[in-house]
Formats: sequence, structure tokens, C-alpha cells
Amino acid sequence: MIRQAKGKTPRRPPPKKTSNNQKDPVGVYCRVRPLGADDEECCIEVISNTTIQLHAPDGLKANRNGEYKETQYSFKKVFGIKTTQKELFEDVAKPLVEDLIHCKNGLLFTYGVTGSGKTHTMTGSPGQGGLLPRSLDMIFNSIGPYQAKRYVFKPDDKNGMEVQNQVDALLDRQKRDSQSAVPKTPNTRRIDPEFADMISPEDACRADGVDEDSSYSVFVSYIEIYNNYIYDLLEETPFDPIKPKPPQSKILREDQNHNMYVAGCTEVEVKSTEEAFEVFWRGQKKRRIANTQLNRESSRSHSVFIVKLAQAPLDADGDNVLQDKNQVNVSQLCLVDLAGSERTSRTRAEGSRLREAGNINQSLMTLRTCIEVLRENQMCGTNKMVPYRDSKVTHLFKNYFDGEGKVRMVVCVNPKADDYEETLLVMRFAEMTQEVEVARPVDRPICGYTAGRRQRNQAFKDELTRRLEERGGPVDGEFPTVLNQLLQSFPPLPPCEVSGPNDDVTLPRLIEALEKRHRVRQMMIEEYNKTANMLKSVLQEQDSNILSKENFIHEQRGKLGEKDKMIQNQKNEIDRLEKKSKMLEYKIDILQKTTNIYEEDKRSLQHELESREQRLQREMSEKRRMESRMQGIVTDAKLKWEKECERRVNAKQLEMQNKLWVKDEKLKQLKAIVTEGKTENRQPQRPSREKDKVPPKRSASPSPVPTGPAVRPLHRRSHSAGGERWVDHTPSTNVDLDTVLQPNIPNAIKVNAPNEKALSKCDKYVLTHQEVASDGEIQTKLIKGEVFRTRGGGQAVQFTDIETLKQENPVVASSSRKRRSSESGPDGEPMEGDWTDVETRCSVALEMRAGSNLGPGYQHHGYTKRRKP
Ligand code: ADP
Ligand code: MG
Repeated sequence: MIRQAKGKTPRRPPPKKTSNNQKDPVGVYCRVRPLGADDEECCIEVISNTTIQLHAPDGLKANRNGEYKETQYSFKKVFGIKTTQKELFEDVAKPLVEDLIHCKNGLLFTYGVTGSGKTHTMTGSPGQGGLLPRSLDMIFNSIGPYQAKRYVFKPDDKNGMEVQNQVDALLDRQKRDSQSAVPKTPNTRRIDPEFADMISPEDACRADGVDEDSSYSVFVSYIEIYNNYIYDLLEETPFDPIKPKPPQSKILREDQNHNMYVAGCTEVEVKSTEEAFEVFWRGQKKRRIANTQLNRESSRSHSVFIVKLAQAPLDADGDNVLQDKNQVNVSQLCLVDLAGSERTSRTRAEGSRLREAGNINQSLMTLRTCIEVLRENQMCGTNKMVPYRDSKVTHLFKNYFDGEGKVRMVVCVNPKADDYEETLLVMRFAEMTQEVEVARPVDRPICGYTAGRRQRNQAFKDELTRRLEERGGPVDGEFPTVLNQLLQSFPPLPPCEVSGPNDDVTLPRLIEALEKRHRVRQMMIEEYNKTANMLKSVLQEQDSNILSKENFIHEQRGKLGEKDKMIQNQKNEIDRLEKKSKMLEYKIDILQKTTNIYEEDKRSLQHELESREQRLQREMSEKRRMESRMQGIVTDAKLKWEKECERRVNAKQLEMQNKLWVKDEKLKQLKAIVTEGKTENRQPQRPSREKDKVPPKRSASPSPVPTGPAVRPLHRRSHSAGGERWVDHTPSTNVDLDTVLQPNIPNAIKVNAPNEKALSKCDKYVLTHQEVASDGEIQTKLIKGEVFRTRGGGQAVQFTDIETLKQENPVVASSSRKRRSSESGPDGEPMEGDWTDVETRCSVALEMRAGSNLGPGYQHHGYTKRRKP
């Protein structure tokens, strides 16, 4: 069917109706109805007068893994559960009614799932009239006194409006009165109790700026679109109770202005709110009956109530409607209660019901697609074809979206959790819809007549009636009164009783009087014509004056329009910039946050660095302390070992010498025994080793002044008593230096080699030891010690001090060479001379321990290379 329609009506280029390119977005309002029961779960919250928030019901959240979050939707305005019908009307429908009265079209539809309050919003209930009865009331409150007589305006069945003359209109009225038994006067207020109190008188409101110099008429139609068929709900069909005829569907046509209309649809002229609502209610009843008879569900149909307002200027007298079809203006307001927007799955319908449901969805789907394409075309500048023709609803209203009037939508929502998923879809559609813009309707051109005609005419009529009443008192009608007055203003007729055919007296007198009257009349006519002409010219002059003024006003209006356009452009620019600045602000915000995070990082890293540095410092100082402690330990140990070594060396030396001496002594005794008698008084000899060596003579040359203390040129044997006794051990190998630098210890027992006897008598011991230093000088050391008694009854010496004296070697350098060679003598035994190596032969080992807490550390091991005994 749709395809046929497509084929029949070839696409014409869209009409250039307006030079206006100002656009307004589709006004989308949201109304939240109260919950049906207090214990129902709620999933909607009104968070401001433009925004609502949806939150997934608990069960759903669990099912979907928390996939659903809270979502917000913004609209031109949000009406909460406490909103009254009046408040909603004031905001949503009142501007549309004002537009209607000012010759502009409007489309208002309610959208939402079944039970969300669409019908409540559009129609309402007694005491709570909806947008429809309120709109009707406002229309009649505004144009009430300026309505044309019935049948003056007459629809031409091609979506146009004709104007009938008074006589034809009167004849039509008489025909209607005789045909219908319907009481013609609605003043009786015999209102159907079903819709009584739809509008309370105190809510009455009216539009401003109604043109009084026009005449108005209201026509209403009521159609239902079910299963993509259009039915006329006001069609008068003879009812056949036996075999009820199924209603005939209507088709859509395009008029000469390319506006869509339902062909052959009943348009009922109504003169009051009550009458109009009565007609609506008649349609409503018919709809209900049809639904029951055909087993249909009303929630699956779209209902469209169309209010047409015809208006035409009054003629120049301000008395009658101007008989010019081109001056008739028709505007219309469509009030649409759409079918429930729920998906097919929600209906438990089967068979044909399912098909219907599918179709309903299809038509809403088409509406959705159209809106989407429109939006895309507008936003992206594309020129995609909008599929209006795919469904009757969109096809019927295509002109609105192409810029033929204001479009508003009330999205109804039930906050109950069961509806959540469908409400979500409704919200998405609604939000998208408000991104579509439709052209703003233009103002009606001004007709050429002066304003205030109706009032002047009325005032004239009032004045005339008043005057006539003053002069002639109560009379039977307008015309006879005027005639009487005119007759009275003529000179009286003479008596005209004619005596006979030849009455020469009366007839001439009568002729004369009549002639006189004729002359007066002629004069009066002339006078009247003169005055009329004068008045006419004055009026014409004034008319042209007014016309030029009106032209001027028109011009100014045009300029104003341009200025408006400019302002609009600037506003758009401001909007754009504001958006941009918001975007930038957002970016700055993000950057600020990032910076903060980095700074925080930096601070924490710095903090860590500081703490690490502190730890390092601590460890370093710890290390230093350890080092110094270790150094101390090492020096201590070194000193101790040095002393110990010295002591041991000396002891060993002494012991060895002692042994040597004892052996020598034994040998001597043996020799003495052998050579008894020859050498009775022989003194004990030195060890043979030393015998080879010639005791050095004292050098004749004086030695250099010695360095060091405790050296005095004293006698060898001095008896100056001291508290202690010394064993003065001077090996016979010593060179007699013959200097004043000879240690002289009083009261000492001098020995070449230490013996037990001598030691047992003394408590101090001194060894005079000579050696050649590296510079060739002879070094004399006085090695002092203390004598102890050992447990075994022997004697031991513990060395306590070393004094060093230096003197030039009196023996030539060769002797020192000789001595050196003797250091490694044939017996391999080192001489005493190198025992000082002890001091120097200290090796240091470095050892680093891995994993030590103290870090790299040193441990000093001092080894003293021991001399072989
Ligand atoms: P729909 O037409 O969307 O299917 P209805 O208008 O028939 O929904 O509303 C269903 C029920 O809810 C009706 O009984 C109606 O009175 C009630 N209702 C809807 N909206 C409201 C509201 N705003 N305030 C009070 N009751 C409402
Ligand atoms: Mg409904």
C-alpha cells in the first residue's frame, strides 16, 4: 500500500515556502508519573528541572554484572510527579495555541510505554483535564467574540478553506437545523457527565494579540491510526446493529501547497469548548466501541486530534468576512497520543495481534528512523532521504519536520523498575529527538485594510441605534425607522383630496408640492454626493497615509528580522565558543590533575632520595668510625706483637748465648783437664767462634758526637751505689769504639756472654749490641731488660728498652763488606745484625669480606716474621 502511494505521487522538489532559515530544536519535555503503588521499586530520580537520572533496578544490576550504571538525560524541562495538568499546559501547549491563533502550525505528541501517562497527559480525566481540553478552552477564550457565523468558512475537501457569502451560509445553517435534532445552541450546557469538569473556569486563559479585525472559525477532526490504517473517528455512518460494517480506512493526500492531509476526513465546525470536546468524546466513544468489537487494544493505536483554525480579515466596513479565498488563513494544531512504545516481546499477543504489535512498533520505528536521518542531515550537512512514507504517522506529519510549524514532544515515563529497560530506550530516542531542528514558522503577511475596523463598525452600529432610539422611540425595525425620519424631514404635502378629474386647484397644487419635494430631494442628493465624495477623498487620503505607514512598518520589520538573524548568528557563535571554552577548561582540568599526580610523584621520590642520602651518610660515618677503630686495633696489635717479638728474640738470644757459654765452659774445663798443670789459672774463654775475631781496638780518632741521651763518659767500674744491679753484657765481637760514648753502668757485672751466676746476682740486664747501618755508620744499641727467676730455678731476661747510638765505623768500608758477607756465613746462621728486620718485616694483608654489613672494610693482620733460633 505504501509502495503504491509512492508510485502515485511523484516526488516534487520541496516547496520554497519560507525565506526564513531560523530554526528551533524540537522541544522535548519529560513527565514522570507517580508510582502506582508505594511499595514499587523506583528507577528514576528527578535531579533538576531539566535532568532525570535512571538507575538500574537491583535485580537487573546483579544479572548484568553491573553493566548498567546510572544514566542522566536532559530535556527542555522535566516535570516531576507533583506537576499539575495546568502547569504542564502553561509550559508545553500554551505557546502552541498562541502560535495557532497567530496563523502558525503546531504538533504536539506524547510518547512513552503503555501506562506511562500519555493519555492522562493528553486527555486527562474529569477534574484533571489534559492538554487537549485546555488547548480547546484557550482557543475559544481567545477568539470567542470574533468567531464567524457558522458556514461562513467551508472546507473545500482539498485541505483548503472557502468563504461563503451571507446568503449561502444562512441557507446552510437552515439546512443543518432542519436535518439534525442536535440542539444548536450549546449555551444550554447539557454536558455529558463523563467529561464534565475537564476544565475548571478558574483555569481559563487566553492568548494575547488576537487580531480583532479578522473572523475565525474552528474545525476539528479526529483520526486513529491502527495497524498502519487511518480511520476517521468522526465519520457519521448509519449504524447497522445486525451486520456492523467494518470501518473504512482513509488515505493520505498532498494538497497544492504540498501539505499532507487525510482525504475525505470529517471536519466539524465547532463554536465552543464544550461543543469541541463533545465532538472529541464522540470520537473517543466510537474508538472504544470499535476496539471492543474488533478485539483491538487501544494502546496499540495512535490517535490524532486536529484543530484547524480558519481566519480571514473583515471587509473594509469591518462588517463582513472579506469574500476572498486568498485572504483566508488556515493554521492547525495536531494533538497526538502515540501508541505505547514497548517492544513486541512485552506483549503476550499471538497471531494477528502479534502482527499488529509488530506494525505499531514499525511505525514508531519509522518515526525513530526519520528523526535519526533528519538529525544526521542537519548535523553532517548530508541530504539523505527521510523515509516519512514508510508509515502513516510520519507521512502525515512530514510537513512539520520540513519546517511547517513547531514540534513538541512530551515523553511520559513511569518510574517503576519493571519498565526500566523500555524507559531507557524511550530516553535515548527522546534525547536524540531534541537534536533535530525545524524551521521557525514565519509571520502572516499583513492585509491591506486599516486596523480597528471591527471596533469602528461596532461603534457606528451602536451609535446609530442610540440615535434612532432617541428620535423615534421604540420602533419595529431598522429600515422603517430610517424611512420615517427621512419622510418627516420633507415639507408637508398639501391636502390632496381630488374633487374630480378636472380639479384644477388640487392637482396643480399637488404637482407643485411634489415638484418642490423633488427639487429638495435633488438638492439633498447633490449635497449627499458632494459630502460623500469629500469624505471618500479624505478617507482615501487617510488610507494611503496608513498604507504608507504600514509599508514603513513592514520595512522596519524586515530590518528587525535581519537584526534578529544577526543576533541569532552571534548567539550561535557565542554558543560555539562557550562549548569550546568548556572543552578547553575540561582539558586544563585534566592537565592540572596530571601535573598534580606528577608533582606528588616527584615529592615522594625526593623524599625517598633524601632518606637514602641520610642512610648513606650514616653508613659512611659508621664506616669511618669502623675504620678508625680498626686502625687503632691494628696499631695496638702491631705494637703488641712488635714488643712480644722483641722480647722473644732477646730471650732466645740470651738462652742461646747461655748455652753456648756453658758449652764453651765445659770445653774449657775439658781442655783444662787435658792440659792440667800447664794452664792452671786460665780464665774461662770466649766461645771459639768469637775467638777468631780480633777484639777491636779503640779507634784513635774521636767519634762524632753521639745522638741520644743516657750516654756518659764514665768509668767502667764505679761503686757509686744504686738500688739495682746490672749485668753488662758486651759481646767480645763488639768493636771498641774508643769514644766517650761508652755506656758505663756502675756496680755492674761485666760479661762477654751472659751466665747464670751473673744473672742470679742481678735484677737488670743490658746488652751492648753493634751493627753496621746502611749508611756505613756503626750503630750501637743498648738493649735493656729485667731479670726474672724462672720456675725451674733458672734465670730469664725480659727486654724492656732499646737505646740506639750511631757512630762512624772506624773499620774501613771493606770490613763492613766483610761483615755483610759473614751475615750468611757458611753455617747459614744469620747474625744478630739483621734481627731488626722484625720491625720492618711486617706484611699487611688486605682482606675484603663480601656481604659485610659495614660495607667494604679492612682487617689488618700483622705477621711478624720470626727469626730462626
Ligand atoms: P498511557 O496512555 O501511557 O498508556 P495512561 O495515561 O492511561 O497511560 O495512564 C495509566 C494510569 O496512570 C491511568 O490510570 C492514569 O490515571 C495514571 N496516571 C498517569 N499519569 C499520571 C499522573 N501524572 N498523575 C496521576 N496519575 C497518572
Ligand atoms: Mg493511552
